[in-house]
Amino acid sequence: MRPIQMVDLKSQYQKIKPQIDKAVIEVLESAGFINGKPVKDFCQNLATYLDIKHVIPCANGTDALQIALMALDLQPGDEVITPSFTFIATTEVVALLRLKPVFVEVDKETFCMDIESVRKAITPKTKAIVPVHLYGQATDMEALMQLAKEHNITVIEDNAQAIGCDIEMKNGSKKKTGTLGDIGTTSFFPSKNLGGYGDGGAIFTNDDTLAEKMQIIASHGSAKRYYHEVVGCNSRLDTVQAAILDIKLKELDNYIAARNKVADYYDQAFANHPKIKTPVRTSYSNHVFHQYTLVVEGVDRDALQTHLASKNIPAMIYYPVPGHKQKMFENFSEKYDLPVTDWLTERVISLPIHTEMDEEQLAYITQNILDFCK
Ligand SMILES: *Cc1c(COP(=O)(O)O)cnc(C)c1O
Repeated sequence: MRPIQMVDLKSQYQKIKPQIDKAVIEVLESAGFINGKPVKDFCQNLATYLDIKHVIPCANGTDALQIALMALDLQPGDEVITPSFTFIATTEVVALLRLKPVFVEVDKETFCMDIESVRKAITPKTKAIVPVHLYGQATDMEALMQLAKEHNITVIEDNAQAIGCDIEMKNGSKKKTGTLGDIGTTSFFPSKNLGGYGDGGAIFTNDDTLAEKMQIIASHGSAKRYYHEVVGCNSRLDTVQAAILDIKLKELDNYIAARNKVADYYDQAFANHPKIKTPVRTSYSNHVFHQYTLVVEGVDRDALQTHLASKNIPAMIYYPVPGHKQKMFENFSEKYDLPVTDWLTERVISLPIHTEMDEEQLAYITQNILDFCK
């Protein structure tokens, strides 16, 4: 059996090696390492794929969130509502900008921001809401956008884990996650569903004014070279990364299908198991399975992880400590009571899922889990 990994980027690369190598060499030979033509081409192709007006490239998914927040002209202490159950980048940038992260609960089934918790957390100081489409599952964006509109609050979708996910609107039309809010952000970290071979990120919007502002912020606050209008930062997508991502973008839908095949296998293997709960599919979206995350009950989750490791099966806990319990935020937030989040952090376990898994690996993984959870 081939060794099992959480992601297998080596095998994935082998399948697209000729195109990738050619594209990278072209960049090397052109020496257009910064803002070369592939950056523009990739952004245009991504805009078409997402059906969005503007795609602004940047250095990583964390910068994307930071630049989006910087474009809103917020004041220190303004409140930004985000889930506590997410990767730290989402909430870290809020604190970095001297804004106040306000942590809300996630839905027990979807692992995404619970809309009723958001409603309760809104105050006159709430200026932005940052939902996270966690593990590749969409937040209920139509409900969230309606709530945000009622209160005139900006929504920034952290789409780092769900690029390519479709939300089906009540009128039957489909929209990609990251394009329903005022701004969407993503990461091209290698292990993400659309990953480069290094760091990268992007910001999406249909709003011309915000797009221009964010473009300026990402380039040292300047529209015209050496004339700086606002305090910005330096955040760019490398030309080499853009060239690679442009090739991988063409594969994205195939990659999502491959991930779904793995998810279907796991679903069947664990169906109706009294101690293992498989991920739900919502009525309003598909799932792009950045992670395949089980909730186990009546099983020692950490012992399961250790047991799997002893069988050379990696499994990860995303995330063991939620935002509201991170030391980082000690001085930022009051005491929170988020029982669903706490409950999940003790019970979730993410299994290997990627585009290169075979049935032999899946049979071995599922058998070992079933043996342990008897
Ligand atoms: C990966 C990730 C980010 C940050 O992306 P980087 O490119 O690593 O900076 C932000 N939010 C979520 C939910 C992520 O998974």
